[in-house]
Amino acid sequence: MLNGEKKIARPLRWAMVGGGRLGQVGYKHRTGALRDNTAFQLVAGAFDIDPERGRDFGVNIGVAENRCYDDYKTMFGEEAAREDGIEVISIATPNGTHYEICKAALEAGLHVICEKPLFFTTDEVREIKSLAEEKGKIVGVTYGFSGNQMLLQMRAMIEQGKIGDIRVVDLQYTHGFNALEEEKPSDAQKWRVDPKIAGPSFVLGDLSTHTYYMSQLIMPNMKIKELLCDRQSFIKSRAPLEDNAHVLMHYENGAVGTMWTSSINAGCMDGHRIRIVGSKASLEWWDSKPGELTYEVQGEPIQTLIRAMPYLDESCNADERLGALHVEGLSDSWANIYLKFAVAIDAKSRGDEETLKNLVYPDIDAGLEGVRWIENCVRSAENGAVWVNFE
Ligand code: NAD
Repeated sequence: MLNGEKKIARPLRWAMVGGGRLGQVGYKHRTGALRDNTAFQLVAGAFDIDPERGRDFGVNIGVAENRCYDDYKTMFGEEAAREDGIEVISIATPNGTHYEICKAALEAGLHVICEKPLFFTTDEVREIKSLAEEKGKIVGVTYGFSGNQMLLQMRAMIEQGKIGDIRVVDLQYTHGFNALEEEKPSDAQKWRVDPKIAGPSFVLGDLSTHTYYMSQLIMPNMKIKELLCDRQSFIKSRAPLEDNAHVLMHYENGAVGTMWTSSINAGCMDGHRIRIVGSKASLEWWDSKPGELTYEVQGEPIQTLIRAMPYLDESCNADERLGALHVEGLSDSWANIYLKFAVAIDAKSRGDEETLKNLVYPDIDAGLEGVRWIENCVRSAENGAVWVNFE
């Protein structure tokens, strides 16, 4: 169980790029990183594309005014000249800026925690992966709900053979918040359907990369052999980017899978579900009830496993924070992944490869997989929704 005690010698000096006053995701980063007070300290930021608003915001969340910078390049330069300069940054800006900010940060000798989808192409990710290796730095990716401990319970149960051989993988990340054509889309929605800023996809990148990573976390041995993606823009102004997609998967071990990702699932408030069907039993998780796992053994009464209970796997309870009777959710998940980023950065800085090898967290390979997922889905869809080898 986690109780906030330090896991690394001292908190890392941390800054944000983006995630300012009007940013949707910035507060989730701060909620995660600052939760334990022993992992990260927010000491600087280039929080906003509008420098004045960014400075005002930074000061309002407790950052010294002289460390609220006009832009990330100035921040990297000025912080490098300080003895107590930043060591790690988080990137919470629109997709199209991730690559250049990440590259500049690594070149400035900083560790990076970056939003998903990491970049536009797997070539870019591979280049950044080599750069990170050369510089001895960590690149983590914020698949926010992947720190939920019940996913580790699923991983443990599958590893222990509790559901038998996996036959069907049923993934869904849908909602209905874009079902209607927006008269005045928000800035955050406008860039999401602009390929120059969003990249080659809308919901495939925005939503399904989370679920795809979570499925890989739960089933690390399940590799996709080929997939078929059919995508649509039901609201025509979003074309060529999709607001709905179905993906069929064939896994190397003969299992089959589906992913439905959509932002036009009208009326749906939260359709983020993972169901793994084995030869003996099935497991299901839904992010609206993140502390519960349904375990259905063929021929037996359905069981609901509840977080924080002693019958759960050690790996699951190790990431428990509040204990039974008290609800946990998305913020705790973000805190769990940020804590693992801190442990990874500390281990990398000390040359402790053993810790890194055993740490389950969304690293650059998880970012690479997400971009690879998008690339393959788009290639299939662009060729008329045909099966393509998962390259
Ligand atoms: P947003 O448009 O709401 O906010 C973007 C923020 O970045 C704003 O504060 C803006 O001023 C700032 N910004 C833009 N360019 C900048 C620059 N060059 N320098 C400094 N600041 C800059 O976007 P959002 O919805 O918060 O999404 C941001 C990223 O987070 C995207 O990559 C998105 O896919 C991802 N996201 C992830 C999750 C998650 O659960 N992990 C949730 C939402 C968004």
